[in-house]
This record gives sequence, C-alpha cells and structure tokens, in this order.
Amino acid sequence: MIHQGEYIRDILRGEVGKTVHAHGWVKTRRDSKGVSFVQLNDGSSFQDLQVVIEEGALPEEAMKQTTTGACVRVTGELVASPAAGQAVELKAKEILVYGGADPATYPLQKKGHTMEFLRDIAHLRTRSNTFGAVFRVRNALAHAIHNFYRERGFVYVHTPIITASDCEGAGAMFGVTTLDMMNLPRNDSGAVDYSKDFFGKPAYLTVSGQLNVEIFALSFTNVYTFGPTFRAENSNTPRHLSEFWMIEPEMAFCDLEGDMELAEAFLKYIIKYVMEACPDDLEFFNKRIDNTVLATLSQVVENNFEHVTYTEAIRLLEKSNRTWEFPVFWGADMQSEHERYLTEEVFKKPVIVTDYPKEIKAFYMRANDDGKTVRAMDVLAPRIGEIIGGSQREERYDVLLDKIRKQELNEEAYWWYLELRKYGSAPHAGFGLGFERVMLYLTGMKNIRDVIPFPRTPGSADF
Ligand code: ATP
Ligand code: MN
Repeated sequence: MIHQGEYIRDILRGEVGKTVHAHGWVKTRRDSKGVSFVQLNDGSSFQDLQVVIEEGALPEEAMKQTTTGACVRVTGELVASPAAGQAVELKAKEILVYGGADPATYPLQKKGHTMEFLRDIAHLRTRSNTFGAVFRVRNALAHAIHNFYRERGFVYVHTPIITASDCEGAGAMFGVTTLDMMNLPRNDSGAVDYSKDFFGKPAYLTVSGQLNVEIFALSFTNVYTFGPTFRAENSNTPRHLSEFWMIEPEMAFCDLEGDMELAEAFLKYIIKYVMEACPDDLEFFNKRIDNTVLATLSQVVENNFEHVTYTEAIRLLEKSNRTWEFPVFWGADMQSEHERYLTEEVFKKPVIVTDYPKEIKAFYMRANDDGKTVRAMDVLAPRIGEIIGGSQREERYDVLLDKIRKQELNEEAYWWYLELRKYGSAPHAGFGLGFERVMLYLTGMKNIRDVIPFPRTPGSADF
C-alpha cells in the first residue's frame, strides 16, 4: 500500500462526480438530523475536506469510531457543496478507520487551548489549525531560501555541527563529550584531560557556520549554509532558542553595500514567495493571530529599506525624549527597545544600521578608516527588531592578526582563518539570518517556541 498523492489539497479542486479516496485525521464531527459532517485534514492544505455521511450509509461500528482525532480513509463521490468557501464535498460510500481516538481522553479538543498547553502536546499540536499553518509556512520558507540562492548561482555548503575550534565567539557553546562525568580524567594540575576525550580536545556544538563558509566563498565565490546552530545562553525570551536554524550567505568580491543589497533582495524574495505559496495560511494568521501580518509583509516587499549609520541611530535615540530601560550612548549595544523604536516609530519600515563601534562587534569585521567603527550591518524589522546581522570581513592579514592579538584571542586556533588572508585573500562579506525570526515575522506568532517543531530552550528539551 502506498499513498498515491491524492492529497486533500488536490481533492478539494477535483471535479464533481469523481470517485476519490481521502485519507486524514478527523478535525471535528457534527451530527444533525439524518446526516453527519466530518472535517477531514491530511496537512496538505489549511482547508479541510468536508465529508458528508448519510445516516445508515456506513457501518455503525466505524461511525462510532469516527470522532475527533481519529485517522480514517473515506471513499466516496465528490459532490457540489452548498456550504460557503468550498466547491466540493465528499459524499461517503465507505470508511476505513485506521486508528480511533478515545473522545474521553483525546487532548486536542475543538479550540481554546493555550499555546503553552499545545507546546506540552507537541506530538499532537501539529494537527491543529494553527500549527498546520505554521509548519506549512516553515516548509515553504525553506524552499524559498534554497530557490533564491540557486537562482543566483550560490553553492550550498554543509558546515559542521560539531566543532573543536572554540573560535566563533558568537555565544556560549554546548560541550560535546564522551568522557565519564563520574570519573573524569585529570592532568597533573587537576584540570580535565581532554586528550582522553573523543576528539582528543574539547568539542562543541556550532554557534555559526560563518568561519567555515568563508573558506568556501574563497573558492566558490558565492556560497551559503543553512543548518542548525546552538547557543547555550540562558536567555529565556520569546525570541531565543537554544537550537535554531540559520542561513548564512558569504560572497567573495563583495563589500558591505553588496551585502546589504543581497539582504534586502533576499528578505523581499522569501516573503513574496511564501505569500504566493501559502495564501490560506497567511490569511489565517492575519485573522486569528495578528491582524497586522499581511500589511507589514506587503510593506516590506514594496518599500526600500532605510539606511542609517550606528552613530546617526544613536543620535535619533538620544533625541527621542524617551526613558529607556537600557541607557543610550555612543558605544552602547542596541537593545530590542531601541531597535523597535527605530523601525516602528522613526522609519516605519525595515532599517539597516551600519558601521558599529568595533568594541561591540566581532573581531572579523572589517575595520573602517576612522579607527573606531567596523563595516557591520544589522537589519532591523518592525515588530521583532534584529533579524539579520552581517558584515564585510577583514581581508587584510596584518589588520586581522593585530585584532586577534589585541582582543587576546587564541591566535593558534585561528591559524587556518589567518591563512585564508595570506593565500589569495579577497574582499568578502556575508550575513546571518535567523530562520525562526523570519518565521515569527511571517506568521505573527508571538513565541519562537511555536514556530519550530520541537523547541529546545533552557530547562526544556521534550519530544
Ligand atoms: P540577539 O541579539 O537577538 O541575541 P545575536 O546578536 O546573538 O542576536 P547573531 O549572533 O548575529 O545574533 O546571529 C545571527 C542571527 O541569528 C540573528 O540576527 C538572529 O536572527 C538569529 N539568532 C541569534 N540568536 C538566536 C537565538 N538564540 N534563537 C533564535 N535565533 C537567533
Ligand atoms: Mn544573542
């Protein structure tokens, strides 16, 4: 037996009179005089297939089991539907119950569940309207990303998930070890002897693929990586996950201007793609989750992004006469309240902030001639703040080495990164985009835990 791709999505567009087999899970069942209505969904579309069962048409035993949550196959004939919003419905002739769902205990009842409750039943929440829509959008977004880069000739690179070079500096890392915690090998000074560990040295889960992807940019010109990254920060916010997905393009022969052009074209492309691929799902988010979603998305697609330097942005924040939770001064890292003020109130559209103080940005960002700032850019978006962080990379060997030394980083660990500047260096630039941050943007969902199938956050790694 194999499901031949007769998805409910396609059945809904079928011709009246056609005989079809529909497979799916019962969302709801309503009995009225002489007839039962069953809403069937197989995840292929937001819209359910309405199955109409006339009294006595199907065996009683099967009808008893056809309750919310049950999985069934219905064979029948497509007939014109008198109900609004659907051209056809399925008049049942035969039903096969693959698996029942005891109505007394099935946790996903009709509606009114909180997001928190649904998170606790992540094995079933995927069958709800909301999470059906979320994960169809997530799928479309992943396709959009690959299409965008493929159309531009970028090479897709798989960067490693386990890394033994503690040199990314983007955030706290998870250790990876096979050492016996109850019986750790120690060296003479009492420290853990990692030479006895699996890789012969400390290893971690990656926080970013950037340094690796730079290697590929300096061979294949335009490349990107799209994979999971891990941060062991204890930041329990609606915007942070311990495991999240990141898209990181890297381009040789490219400066910060080119980087910003790509970032803007990229965001517009993926938003437009998902708007075209998932209109019903976005309509649902706009109606039930956040009624500004569609308007903001169109606004992003239709307007040019604003550009402002960090120095100018700080001036705007200082001028605002607001009381900030986090103080504003030249040299301060911008917090979410500042980012949102700039995009939501000053510019009312996405803003790219450039040329940050070197002290608050990573060592690999290209130094500006002023000696104070670096060629960094962050894209800030209304509603969520920072969505992209990028930079032109320091391609000058001496300048980079000097920075590594001044910041007292482990020079040896960066040997290959430095050699890229010694042998055939080139100007290059790139950025990182948090996949789930875009998901928040597209769906209007409030919590990042609800746009990834199985969220991992401090204290929580269920399913
Ligand atoms: P933030 O200030 O929001 O913590 P960051 O400065 O740590 O972000 P980067 O290291 O620049 O972020 O990572 C690149 C992108 O990855 C960010 O712009 C954001 O979209 C996303 N991102 C960063 N940390 C997380 C996280 N913990 N969970 C989900 N997405 C994240
Ligand atoms: Mn962070």
